[in-house]
Parts: sequence; C-alpha cells; structure tokens
Amino acid sequence: MDALDAKYPFFASAREAVASAGVSLPDLVAADAPAVERARERVERALLEGTVAAESGAFPGESAYDVQAELLSYPIARILVSLLDSDPAIEKYAAAEAATAMERVRRDLEADDELRSVSSATVALDDLLAEFDLADAVRPDATAPAGARGVAGAGGTGRDPDGYRIDVGPYLRLTSPEWGDSWRLVNRALADGAVRVSREELLAALEAAVEARVAEGLPFEDLGESLAEALEPRVADLRRLLSERTYTEPPDVVAPALFPPCMTNLIEKAERDVTLSAAESFALMAFLVGIGMTPDEVVAFCADTSLDAEGIRYQTEFLTDDRGTQYPPPTCETLANYGICHNEDDHMQVAADPLSYYEKQVAAADEVTDWRDGREGDETGEA
Ligand code: SF4
Repeated sequence: MDALDAKYPFFASAREAVASAGVSLPDLVAADAPAVERARERVERALLEGTVAAESGAFPGESAYDVQAELLSYPIARILVSLLDSDPAIEKYAAAEAATAMERVRRDLEADDELRSVSSATVALDDLLAEFDLADAVRPDATAPAGARGVAGAGGTGRDPDGYRIDVGPYLRLTSPEWGDSWRLVNRALADGAVRVSREELLAALEAAVEARVAEGLPFEDLGESLAEALEPRVADLRRLLSERTYTEPPDVVAPALFPPCMTNLIEKAERDVTLSAAESFALMAFLVGIGMTPDEVVAFCADTSLDAEGIRYQTEFLTDDRGTQYPPPTCETLANYGICHNEDDHMQVAADPLSYYEKQVAAADEVTDWRDGREGDETGEA
C-alpha cells in the first residue's frame, strides 16, 4: 500500500493492494481499527460538505491517519454507505469521492515536472486516461494554438495541452446535456468522430468517470449480519445526519424574524465574523435552501457574514441539485448533539426539526414579510 493508493483508492492498483495485503474488513471493523472511524468521517463529510478529505488535512500526508487507514477506509466507507440504504446518499457519496479526487488531480497536474518525476504519489493526465481505458480515445487537439498544445502523450513530461479531442462514444458516455447547452453534441466541434474539449472539460468528464466507478456495485447486497451489526452505531449516526424526511410544502417565504433560534444564532454568529463549523454551516445552508432560497439568494442573504460566497454556492448547489435529492436540515435532536440547538423555550416540544418549526411559525403569523420583497425594491432602486 502506498500513498498513491491512499490518495486514489478507486484505482485498480489500490484495489489490488488491498486484496494482496490479505486484510479482512470484518476483522478491521470488529477491532474498531482507525480505518473504521476514518470511513465514517469519509461518508459524513461527503454528505455534509461534498468532500471526503480528512478533517485534519486534504491529503494523506497531512492527515492524522496513516496510509493504510486512509486506503482501507475507502472500502469500509462503501460498506457504510450501502448500509444507509439510500440512493441519494450513494449519489452524494460518489460525487464527493469524485470531487475530492479531481481536486487532488488538479494539484498533481499543477505540480512542476521535476516534482512529478520524483514523486510516486502524483498522477499525470495520461495515467488517469489509462486508468479509465481512455488512452486511445483522447488526444491532444492538433488544431489548438501551438503554444497550448504541449507534448502529445505527455506521460508527465511537458505541459499538458489545453485542448483535446475525445471520441464521440466516450464523450456521450461521460458527459450529460444536463450540464448545460454547451455540452450538447449539436453545439460541439465534431470532426473525424471526435469532439473538441478544453482541458477543464476533459477533467469534468474524468470526474464523471471517477463518480461512476465509485458508485459501481453500490449498494452491496448480502454484507452479512455480523458486519452490519458491528457497523450499526456508525450507520445510525449517519442516518441521523441524513434524516430523510419529506416536506409536503416547504414554506417558500424568507421571514428572518420567524426563523428558529438555532438558525438565528448561527446567522448572528456568522455576522460577528466567527467561522462556522462544517456541521453549523451545513445546517444553516440546508435550512435556507429548505425554505426555498436559491443559491444566489443565499449568497446575498449571507453577504455580510463570515461565510464566503464560493463555499455557499458550492454547498447550496449541492443541496439543490436537480435530481431531487435535496436533504432537509438535520433534526433538532442531531443539532442538539452538535451543540447547535439549546432548545430555547423548550420548543423541541413544538417541532422535531427547524423547518417544521419555521412552517408552524409562518402559519401562525398574522403578517409575513418576505426578505426577498425588500431586496427586489433595493435592486430596483439601484437600477
Ligand atoms: S429545538 Fe429545533 S428548531 Fe428549536 S432551536 Fe433547537 S434545533 Fe432549532
């Protein structure tokens, strides 16, 4: 097992490393090895934040976990997410593994040639293409400006090109028209059965390939009773985070005066420029999205806070993806466990979660002013 396996645990070589190490995952779980806690963290961060990087660092070398725990946490995380028995959770987990992997790939590609040639823990674009059987299907674009072309079949030498051609079959398999009109084949330069893509677009297609590989075979069937039993406490924790409740009609009105105290406290904390923890910012974002705010509205609403626009946008877009897999904010009980809820006025008696509480407040109010109305006025005034 080496650092590259831990960094890209979905690679075939990483799977082989796990198999040839002869490690028994049920034994690891029974022994509550560090890989098990790291696996729980992996899934929790995937669901809450869209990343699987360890809290202590973005890369194995910076993580509190050693290479072996980091690598073994991946197959255990796939077991955990299977036990959650939730298709949206699997989708979000796979998307987070892919997003984290591609963040690492981008860093690897940015590393200078000298570092790449001496470090075995970095990948080159050619490695990634070969990993997904795309080596013959993707070529540097010969029509790209000479300075942007780099070295064909770079293999880690020379600057990677900025433009590529990808065979139409893999292009259609790895991309989706839902990503936007520019991805539709009719809007693409197509020649000799290949589609022209930029380097960033190629990386987006590769991210889809990683996501598909992570999701492949999930959920696992027949994991065995003893393994499921041993992991049950961790699965229960994760289930609480998910709290997949459905709301018949979330109140599509933004009335800050009627927000539950937990959310008001978080907003005030952020307004004092205090950094919110991951769980706090997830709870707030999920609440604001849950009451019908768009990512743009959330960015504007949180403009004068410690929350940065890019992070807000990432999290809210993640929460409002168009596949209908939005998660509501965690329950009051979970928020209390995270120290976010102090059960002011004992209103846990009133509702089980912040959205239900807010729904009741809105329904009971004589008059409700929507923050968005004032904002429209502002915008009109500005114009
Ligand atoms: S009881 Fe629920 S709604 Fe009220 S402050 Fe706590 S978490 Fe928020």
